[in-house]
Amino acid sequence: MIEEVLPNIYRIEVPLPGNPLKSVNSYLLVSPERNLVIDTAFNQPECLEVLKQAYDELKLDLDRTDFFATHLHADHQGLIATFAQPGAKTYMGKPDALRVEDQSGWKKMLNAAAMSGFSQEMLQTAIDNHPGHKHGPEHDMKWDHVVEGDTITVGDYTLTCLETPGHTWGHICLYEAGKKILFSGDHILGDITPNIQVWSLDDDPLQSYMTSLDKIASLEIALTLPGHRTMIPDCRKRVAELKEHHRNRCNEVIDILKNGSCHAVQTASQMTWDIRAASWDAFPLMQQWFATGEALAHLRFLENKGFVSQQPAADGVLLYALKADQEGMLTSMN
Ligand SMILES: [Zn+2]
Repeated sequence: MIEEVLPNIYRIEVPLPGNPLKSVNSYLLVSPERNLVIDTAFNQPECLEVLKQAYDELKLDLDRTDFFATHLHADHQGLIATFAQPGAKTYMGKPDALRVEDQSGWKKMLNAAAMSGFSQEMLQTAIDNHPGHKHGPEHDMKWDHVVEGDTITVGDYTLTCLETPGHTWGHICLYEAGKKILFSGDHILGDITPNIQVWSLDDDPLQSYMTSLDKIASLEIALTLPGHRTMIPDCRKRVAELKEHHRNRCNEVIDILKNGSCHAVQTASQMTWDIRAASWDAFPLMQQWFATGEALAHLRFLENKGFVSQQPAADGVLLYALKADQEGMLTSMN
């Protein structure tokens, strides 16, 4: 499906077969000089076909087209390697680009997952089934690293890079200050909540995410174009809702820990999720994986806020406990 959302800005909705996200939004900005594609989709035949057809229909000249990945996830950058022609710019936030280029993320992630309570067998299956592995780019590539304040001009639009870590380390939103448009990637979504997960035990991505939400809330934005689902008319209202969502999640975790200490998988198994399954054990493994990463993000945040302490159990799995003097609830995410 192709929609011209603003003059010379097209939204191409690309279905993601079998994925709970359903689809991803790929944006195309056209100009007589260079064009810019913001995000693509997974490197899988169904996605490739949809984008090829859309490019044909729009008569896109790939030799004059650059690519921007809002972040490293394969549902956003998986097909950039396929479409980018020699000489094209391929942009990604520096911290994400470095991780893609040296592949360092996977090992850290497996380490943290083992300490969260996943068995070795589950770890291997999870890695084999991870969409980042299955639908990643067809070949390694060199990215053009972008940082805060970098600008890209396409026709009448000048986009400024805003570092918005949280969903990933190097997530970038693109802001058109004159026209008050924000390409929000997976930082701000309207109908679903961006997944905030930690797979490196020295990170606190939820705190980074809260800071990045406040950064966006300070801007004048008339229209937000997200990485998934529909456009967001009132960005500031959505930011407030997302902060409230995570405050409730933190308090849910506090409530769970009141019954005794837990490792991350046990915490996730007691949280509420929008997945139709009879029990935690009936969750598909990948959903258990993402849910545990999310539980861990909230545990780490609460640890840094002084609510929770971490202690290693005998088998190397980390247990989280509510601190004795912290029976209260979290009232603010700042
Ligand atoms: Zn993402």
